[in-house]
Amino acid sequence: MAGIYVHIPFCRSKCIYCDFYSIAARGMEADYVDALVAECRMRRSELANEPVSTLYIGGGTPSLLSPSLMQRLVTGIAQAVCLDDVEEFTVEVNPDDVSAPYISALHALGVNRVSMGVQSFIDDELRAINRRHTASQAIEAVAAIRQAGISNISLDLIYGLPGQSLASWQVSLSRAIALRVPHLSCYNLSYEEGTRLYRMRQAGTITECPDDDCIAMYDLLCHTLSRNGYEHYEVSNFALPAMHSRHNSSYWSGDIYLGLGAAAHSFNGIATRSFNIADARRYIAAISSGCLACERETATLHEQYDEYVMIHLRTSRGISEAEVLRLFGQPFLDHLNREARPFIARNLLTHAAGAYRLTHAAVMLSDSIIRSLML
Ligand code: SF4
Repeated sequence: MAGIYVHIPFCRSKCIYCDFYSIAARGMEADYVDALVAECRMRRSELANEPVSTLYIGGGTPSLLSPSLMQRLVTGIAQAVCLDDVEEFTVEVNPDDVSAPYISALHALGVNRVSMGVQSFIDDELRAINRRHTASQAIEAVAAIRQAGISNISLDLIYGLPGQSLASWQVSLSRAIALRVPHLSCYNLSYEEGTRLYRMRQAGTITECPDDDCIAMYDLLCHTLSRNGYEHYEVSNFALPAMHSRHNSSYWSGDIYLGLGAAAHSFNGIATRSFNIADARRYIAAISSGCLACERETATLHEQYDEYVMIHLRTSRGISEAEVLRLFGQPFLDHLNREARPFIARNLLTHAAGAYRLTHAAVMLSDSIIRSLML
């Protein structure tokens, strides 16, 4: 099976923590959509005749596209590749763009899952990170999405925000649970170089949430969601039974995916990745002149092993010894077994049923454990 990811890089304003490639649209939306469709036609052979089972339109802010441009995009992709096998078709939206008619238009195009960036249900916290919506707009948006016929909804939340307390995080979690959405992605705020948030910390105009508070918020997250029936299937992802994101899971399973648009990545299912240029104007110009705007990289066996460790240790499936042996060979498995031992002794990894998994206590340390297990 294969997936298609489409990147819409336009945003109305920049959230202070965001390091994704996103820009103001400045009237280039239609040209960009035409370039996406053209790129899909140019690269369809990269899907290697695999049936496309997931389609994901992310960003940026895809909900900035009008219904007619969304239709032009989806119709164009459907003319380029067969979408008959698509089981999950997700569009990311921002709460301030959502209305029942807009979501109905998406539903009519085949969209059956909506992912919405809520981040917090506390208005002061939303203002502090330059989000454009309020908590009540997010709650109304969930109702509008359901009213338009889409029940498979995922919300993004962030913990560790400046000024956030354990009590206010509890409020955000309770509101998300009360909405009974089937999927939640919950991220620890990170300070990425180049963001306004990073500069504010350097200038001392913002106080970072202490590590102990972030750990307490993470504990609260895991316990609260588990008590409410959510399965913790990846470090940052939680789902009601059978409602995990198929698209994201296919990234973790090493399936083929084709990424269309500025800054999108693709993977051929074996070892080659390609990276589109992170510049919408140059992307449009390249595609309109019949050229792809991407660089390709083929990973060595060492790099593939490192990537396998990085991806799989973050999932509840963990790192399978049999898979490491089959994909990389005995020396890699020996390395894994040797490096994992001290973490098992410290109760940071478990080793059961032929797989290594992070323990709950280790999740906040996952990056350093992953580095140790890599080559
Ligand atoms: S809406 Fe999303 S992509 Fe756009 S700036 Fe905010 S976090 Fe980044």
